[in-house]
Amino acid sequence: MVPIKEVVVVSGKGGSGKTVFAASLAYLFHQEGFKVMAVDVDVDTPTLHFMLPIRRGLKRYEIYMSRKAVIDANKCIKCMRCVETCPYEAVVVDLTKSLDVESLYCEGCGACMHVCPVSAVSMRESKTGSMIFAETEFGFPIFTAQLEIGEHSTGQLVHELRERAREIAREQNIDVLVVDGSPGISCTIIASIAGADYVALVSEPTPQSLRGAFRAARVAQQFRAYAGFILNKSMGYPVENEVEKLLSIMNARLIGKIPYDYAVIESLTMLKPVVAYRPDSAASRAIRIAYENLKIGAGIR
Ligand code: SF4
Ligand code: SF4
Repeated sequence: MVPIKEVVVVSGKGGSGKTVFAASLAYLFHQEGFKVMAVDVDVDTPTLHFMLPIRRGLKRYEIYMSRKAVIDANKCIKCMRCVETCPYEAVVVDLTKSLDVESLYCEGCGACMHVCPVSAVSMRESKTGSMIFAETEFGFPIFTAQLEIGEHSTGQLVHELRERAREIAREQNIDVLVVDGSPGISCTIIASIAGADYVALVSEPTPQSLRGAFRAARVAQQFRAYAGFILNKSMGYPVENEVEKLLSIMNARLIGKIPYDYAVIESLTMLKPVVAYRPDSAASRAIRIAYENLKIGAGIR
């Protein structure tokens, strides 16, 4: 069996164009005849399916990874220790001094359970969200997730999504996984990058975005994943001249410079990757160059 290639697209800062690039990559792989699956692990703000709209859902998996505190009113002696201890003010007291846990605020830390002198607090499993396996309007599959209100992404959750995506990819004989990773540089990006064959780092030409991308490049280095850098919204700013010098230090290569192009904004409103909406646009031409370079770097033929 040919091993599945995993290409993960990340950025050190939200809004850099990571998802625009990931959607275009998935589309180009599909156009070229690869069996591709798009995977969105940016679960706090999943938007890949806005550019790769879902035609029909195929399977849904519920995720139960959260814990919430529950108070047993029959055991509670109203000592108020849990109220004083909860760092999130999730234990609420009504006028009759009855206690309850506001589940939207409860982070499941378990502190209230530990301080309760009469074991009136227990922890129960709670729904974190859902994973959705679906078919896009372009005919290739997408795997995405949706969190319940008040839930947030964790490294463990991203790891779980990646594992489930790999399982589905094996069942579906997928050649390439294009993963839209988590932005930023927290544990979720580490979970996004772990196991990747190739990491595509997308950055705007701003000091904030570049700094985040270089830090993400360091994470890729730790995992010995080949890293390619895409400078998005390029407009020839002086800071762009420094990028290649810095990249050589980071052991990453500049594989594409995508110009600032209104076609990208139009494509977002049309719910399509720019390479599908305006294949002749300057941004699309630049994305195709980055795509070809990425395939060489990732050994995808
Ligand atoms: S589990 Fe933590 S966050 Fe939830 S109510 Fe108890 S102390 Fe507060
Ligand atoms: S710590 Fe236990 S006994 Fe005290 S108020 Fe909270 S639930 Fe009731």
